[in-house]
Amino acid sequence: MLKLEHLGIAVKDLSEADKCYKRLLGQEPYKHEEVDSEGVKTSFFQTGDSKIELLEATSKESAIAKFIEKRGEGLHHVAFEVDDIFAEIARLKSEGFRVLNEEPKIGADNKLVSFVHPKSAHGVLVELCQEIR
Ligand code: ZN
Repeated sequence: MLKLEHLGIAVKDLSEADKCYKRLLGQEPYKHEEVDSEGVKTSFFQTGDSKIELLEATSKESAIAKFIEKRGEGLHHVAFEVDDIFAEIARLKSEGFRVLNEEPKIGADNKLVSFVHPKSAHGVLVELCQEIR
């Protein structure tokens, strides 16, 4: 894995959270994006080499809606950038990790993404992401 790419934070109200994180980070988000397939809308803040991704559910079936219902707002996932997502998925599987989607999908911010189950990683949902070139 190359680096910590971003932290994903589940929020109830993206425009409220945007205001808060604007004040917290002292800057504007560089991007807003809706990912229909995931039932989320997001905003991204650049913090040095890494980013903060705020996620609000746009449907009750989305993973973010379920997360907030169960655990409330807060840190949802930790994302690592990888060079070759297919090779990393194969490597993690061979290491015994439970990969949630073995076929990477198109996520926000022009990335191919795949997730490792939190039960495999001491309670943390891990995202692998690779820039689509
Ligand atoms: Zn993410």
